[in-house]
Amino acid sequence: MAIVETRGLEKRFGDVTAVDGINITSGEGEFLVLLGPSGCGKTTLLRMIAGLEKPTAGDILIGGRVVTQLPPRARGIAMVFQSYALYPHMSIFKNIAFPLKAHGATKEEMNRKVLWAASMFCIQHLLNRKPRALSGGERQRVALARALVREPNVFLLDEPLSNLDAKLRTSAREELYRFQKEIAITTIYVTHDQVEAMGMGDRIAVMNGGKVHQLGSPVEVYTEPTDTFVAGFLGSPPMNLVEFQDRIVGFRPECFLPREMYQGREDLVSIRFLVNRIEELGSDRLVYGNLEERFNCSHVIASLPTSFTHYSVQIGATYDFAVPAGDVKFFDKQTGFRTNPLPI
Ligand code: ATP
Repeated sequence: MAIVETRGLEKRFGDVTAVDGINITSGEGEFLVLLGPSGCGKTTLLRMIAGLEKPTAGDILIGGRVVTQLPPRARGIAMVFQSYALYPHMSIFKNIAFPLKAHGATKEEMNRKVLWAASMFCIQHLLNRKPRALSGGERQRVALARALVREPNVFLLDEPLSNLDAKLRTSAREELYRFQKEIAITTIYVTHDQVEAMGMGDRIAVMNGGKVHQLGSPVEVYTEPTDTFVAGFLGSPPMNLVEFQDRIVGFRPECFLPREMYQGREDLVSIRFLVNRIEELGSDRLVYGNLEERFNCSHVIASLPTSFTHYSVQIGATYDFAVPAGDVKFFDKQTGFRTNPLPI
C-alpha cells in the first residue's frame, strides 16, 4: 500500500497543455477516481504516475518517495488499460503468470500467486482456457488478475470497464469495488462515466482543461460543487444553472418539485414553472419548462419520481414549484466559483 502524490504536475505536448499543474494526494488504500470529459487530461495524468509519460514540470511521489525520474517497473505500480491485450496463444494461467515469469519467479511461487489472483476474481475454473473462449467480462477479470499477481503498491486503471456492455459493466463495477476494498491497494481509476465514479470512488477528482476543479467524496462533489463546471458535469440531467441578479443560481432537477410535495416545510424558495415538455424515464419523469420572469424565464428541468402518481402536469400549464433553500447554490457569474447565498 502506498500514498500517491503529485506536486505541480504539468504536461505539455507542443502548445497543448494536457495537465496543468495538478496537486493531488491519495489516501492509503483509497479508491480515487479521475473523472472528466474527453480530453481533460485524465489519461495523461495517469500515464505520468505510471511512468509512461515524462512530466514537463512537477513531481510524483509514491509511498513518500519521489519517483518522477524512475522507470515504470521501479514504481511498484500495475496498470490496466481499456484495451487489456491478453496473449491469444497462451492459456489464462500463463497469461496471469506472465509478469511473474518475466521476473524469474519459481514454479511454486507462480502456482500460488496465480491461484490467489484468480480466486480474487472468481476465475479459477477458467485457467486452462485460451482468451478466445472467454466472455468480455471474464477477459477483463483476467487482465485485472494479471495486474494483481505482481502485488503492486498502487493500481492504475484506465477505463477498464468500457469494453463491456451495460449489464456486464454493472456487475463488473460491483466486483471491482468489492475486490478493491478487500485488498485495499491504493487505486487510481480513470473514467468519463460519472455512474462509475459515484459508485466506486472513495473520492473523485473532477477534471477539466488539465486542471482538477474539485476533489471530494461522491456526495460532496454532487451536493456541494465548487464551481459551475462541476455542477454542470455531474448529474443526469445536471444541475439547473440560471441567472439571478448578478449571480448564477443552481439547483438539482430532483430538488425542484411541485410545491405541494414539500408539504409542511417552510424553508422553501417558491418559483412559478411553465411546463413545455414531459419525458417519461420509467423511474422518473423529466419535466422541461421555463421559470418565472425574475429568473429570466430560464429553461430548466424538474425530475419527479414516477411514484408521485397522484400528481399530473400538463404541457402549457404553469405550476407552483419549489426548492428547499439549502439546495439552492450560488455561483459568481464571471468566475463560476461558489459564492455566499443571496436572499431570493
Ligand atoms: P479521453 O477520455 O478522451 O481519453 P483524457 O481526459 O484521457 O481523454 P488525454 O488523453 O489525457 O485526455 O489528453 C489530454 C489532451 O492532451 C488532449 O487535448 C489530447 O489531444 C492531448 N494529447 C494527449 N496525448 C498527446 C500526444 N501524445 N500528443 C499531442 N497531444 C496529446
